[in-house]
Amino acid sequence: MAGVALALLGWSQIARAAGDLMIRNARLLDGTGAAARDGVSIAIREGRITAIGPDLPEAVGGPVLDAGGRTVLPGLIDAHVHFAAAPGGAFRGDSPATRRELNRRHLRAYLASGITTVLEPGSPEATVREIEQMIAEGAPAPRYLTTGPMITVPGGYPGTDLHGPVKSPEDVRQKLALIQSLNGVGVKIAVESLGGLAPYPPDILEAILSGARERGLPVYAHATAPQDQATALGYGVRAIMHSPMGGHWMGQFLPPPDLSEEYVQRMAKSGAYQQTTFSILDAWPNHYDTARLADPSVRLVVPELELETARNPEATRYFFSQLIGAQAGWTPEFLRPYIARLLFRKTNLDEGLEYSQRNVAKLYRAGVPIVAATDAPSIWPLAMYNFHGPQLAREVELLGAAGLPPDAALAAVTRVPASMLSLDAEIGTVEVGKRADLLIVDGDPQKDLRALRNVRWTVHDGVAHTPAEWING
Ligand SMILES: [Zn+2]
Repeated sequence: MAGVALALLGWSQIARAAGDLMIRNARLLDGTGAAARDGVSIAIREGRITAIGPDLPEAVGGPVLDAGGRTVLPGLIDAHVHFAAAPGGAFRGDSPATRRELNRRHLRAYLASGITTVLEPGSPEATVREIEQMIAEGAPAPRYLTTGPMITVPGGYPGTDLHGPVKSPEDVRQKLALIQSLNGVGVKIAVESLGGLAPYPPDILEAILSGARERGLPVYAHATAPQDQATALGYGVRAIMHSPMGGHWMGQFLPPPDLSEEYVQRMAKSGAYQQTTFSILDAWPNHYDTARLADPSVRLVVPELELETARNPEATRYFFSQLIGAQAGWTPEFLRPYIARLLFRKTNLDEGLEYSQRNVAKLYRAGVPIVAATDAPSIWPLAMYNFHGPQLAREVELLGAAGLPPDAALAAVTRVPASMLSLDAEIGTVEVGKRADLLIVDGDPQKDLRALRNVRWTVHDGVAHTPAEWING
């Protein structure tokens, strides 16, 4: 296996192991838009790509990985994940120790699924510190980026005090300082008018937007309803963190009208990125096909504890009972499963997903940069199927099914999120000078996006392992 050396990364104070490696006999799809090339060698020194060219007859020494003609792609980026709760965590009543151990496994699951960078937007301070400490202690992990706690107000989204809500412009300044002390790469706000949540008072909103601007922190907006996305766009945000969803995930029947041409053009001009998060609806109980639990890409990387919960019908009942309880606490317990069955029928969830896919495709055609992201595990701690790792390949497939060409769907998990994160000089494509974050798969993802499930090796900072090695090694 690859030799190991310590290297200090430009955007992080965390030292990590970086490898020397020669990959031979690769079919390189470098992610720049260039056509795939066969018979390619990639030389890596201390975690960085130093040369790419036709295979030489013999390797120049050092560790060698023969890709066997398989396709090499840039390592994937999931630009929307959460570690504050594990899938099914509320049903099991995970202790903090259990959650920590599961997160250790989730970090490995990302690597085993070909994901070499994750962004956790809006995370409680304690969660960020826990993850950063694990990585500092040498836990195998993808590049971990965060925006620290979401800036929210009392009674605002997400409806809990988890993020420490701000009550004054002075509180906002302290929160921004905290985000910077956590190496935050941006600021997460929530623009959410569904569910009767409190909006930002004008002085607080102004303090957030001007404070973020002064500190050079891009603003990432949670917004799901089209009218809220239009409002967020007016704030000059870097990205809208969910596809337009209508109210299907809240149990509403009537989708809003499709995005107007005026809005689509306005978004294209703004330069803002659109995240997909189709997985929220795709992995919703009553929509998720539990046969997918047997998919090898799921079985290998998802912790057994989470698979057990996912197979347990009691967990689904609990999910709906809690969800209805949260939205309409006056509903008698015994009625909740019936209400849930009525509101969250599969056809309603299908419609919601199609609405999101159709409108994201519309944004894509207008030139809006699209970023595929899962929001795993989403609606935490209740949700139980939006698994860390394998769900990202599914997200890309759903983007392809929405009508994006395969190259655009692949760019949405590589080059485009790298540019959203201002890391395009470091990651996102396979080019000399960039970090050696690579994915080697069976099959041709340009012909069939499902090839992303067939990970043979993930190379992170020049260190190559098979999925089983990333999970168990
Ligand atoms: Zn989220």
